[in-house]
Amino acid sequence: MNVLIVDDSALMRAMLTQALAPTGAAVRAPGTLDEARAALGMTGDDPAGVDVLLLDLIMPGTDGLTFLRELRGHPHLEDLSVIMVTAVQEEEQLDAAFQAGATDYVTKPIRPAALCARTTSAARLTRALRSRREREAELLVLNGRLNALNDQLELLSQTDALTGIANRRAFDAQYGHALALHARSQLPVTLLMMDIDHFKGYNDALGHPAGDACLQQVAHTLRACAPRSTDLVARYGGEEFAALLLDTDREGGQTVALRIREALAELRLPHPRHPLGFVTVSVGVAEAADLSGPDVQAGVTLKDAADRALYHAKASGRNRAETWPAGRAPA
Ligand code: GH3
Ligand code: MG
Ligand code: MG
Repeated sequence: MNVLIVDDSALMRAMLTQALAPTGAAVRAPGTLDEARAALGMTGDDPAGVDVLLLDLIMPGTDGLTFLRELRGHPHLEDLSVIMVTAVQEEEQLDAAFQAGATDYVTKPIRPAALCARTTSAARLTRALRSRREREAELLVLNGRLNALNDQLELLSQTDALTGIANRRAFDAQYGHALALHARSQLPVTLLMMDIDHFKGYNDALGHPAGDACLQQVAHTLRACAPRSTDLVARYGGEEFAALLLDTDREGGQTVALRIREALAELRLPHPRHPLGFVTVSVGVAEAADLSGPDVQAGVTLKDAADRALYHAKASGRNRAETWPAGRAPA
């Protein structure tokens, strides 16, 4: 253990040093407070790993109490055990010393056996407190890493691995949220269900990996066509996608559907088994407000409505949008 003695009397320094000899401690006993500060790393020097400080309570100039308060202001010395060395008649000042952060005290005249025992146990305390603090710091770092991993995991659990856009799980959560918002505040909510046309033929002609690449391109195109922060474009499953548009009515949804058709026509991903020669989607558009009371009573959901409109778009020739209920102007 490393012991530092701070005492203005050279005789006391020598006596204390000698008394500690049986412990085998490395003892330093600087003659000035500035040297003591340096030894404790209070002046910007590296802390020298002092385990126990023996501090004279009464010293001329800066007394022990003042020095104690000063060193407790240094975060790296918070855990250092400090034993006050006092004369019997100074004992009434011990209260203040303990309040200032003293760990223990010994009275003069020094009894070497008691000094050794108390110094050894004080050193043990210092080391225990330091290692606990290190463990706490490690835990804090680990906790930070765990939180970052959790965030990543949360993001991954909401992301479709193939296309990088939102997955079905993220869609389902947002869908419930959107319908609740609509029910509570009449916020317009429109849903687009989309399905790639003749996609089986695409896979058959070009192979599954090319099909996957196509899904990625279509996903990115769809997302670019519904770019608001209140729009969610998700891969619903297979070659089917959904766009959930908050604060958007039926006409807004039809506008997005038209934009998608134009964007894919411009992208012109070659499709050897498509009458038009390039990849297209069919779109079903439905707005929550268009579901009538009887619809709702019959259990028709916004999703069902958009699916029926999509079916209608497929039946009417594909590469088009239909809006639910049938008969409303298609995009
Ligand atoms: P329609 O125009 O009526 O939608 O015809 P379709 O061929 O697109 O419809 P169908 O449901 O017959 O075929 C969908 C195809 O989508 C079948 C399947 O091989 C393909 N598919 C679904 N998921 C994936 C995927 O993750 N990767 C690839 N490459 N193909 C997929
Ligand atoms: Mg399909
Ligand atoms: Mg399809």
